Amino acid sequence: MNDACLFCRIIAKEIPAEVVYENDQVLAFLDINPIIKGHVLLIPKFHCEQLLDLPTGYFEPLMAGAKQIAMAQTKALGADGVNWMQNNGTAAGQEIFHFHIHLIPRFVDDGHRWNWNTVSYGDELPIEEMATSIRKSIVHE
Ligand code: 5GP
Ligand code: ZN
Repeated sequence: MNDACLFCRIIAKEIPAEVVYENDQVLAFLDINPIIKGHVLLIPKFHCEQLLDLPTGYFEPLMAGAKQIAMAQTKALGADGVNWMQNNGTAAGQEIFHFHIHLIPRFVDDGHRWNWNTVSYGDELPIEEMATSIRKSIVHE
């Protein structure tokens, strides 16, 4: 528990939240400022800032929890789809530094559009060189 962390305080029940799912390892609650109503935040029950700090033992309970939430959003809300979003670092839009997965129910007519602007690979850094650079940095366990 990190006393300065809002989500740790939600886990400790010091700050109220609308919890929708909980087990020994993860907690899920409604985002207070939803992109779409029914937007859920899923978090590990220990303080960990972001993906790079997350022990691999937590991947399975988080993935399983995410599936539970997505199934419940589909069943309860009639969601036509679910977005999974996960921000790591300020540059990526992270504002709360306790790892969390956004699970956002989507409806064919919800009117929401992501600002998904794309760029092109050019001669300066061809796509093959980018792939090589990342491939060389993969740590094989
Ligand atoms: P981030 O930008 O870090 O990926 O997302 C943080 C999320 O936490 C935001 O979507 C924001 O609405 C949500 N949030 C911030 N404060 C609270 C709070 O006190 N309670 C709940 N339930 N959600 C919060
Ligand atoms: Zn925390």
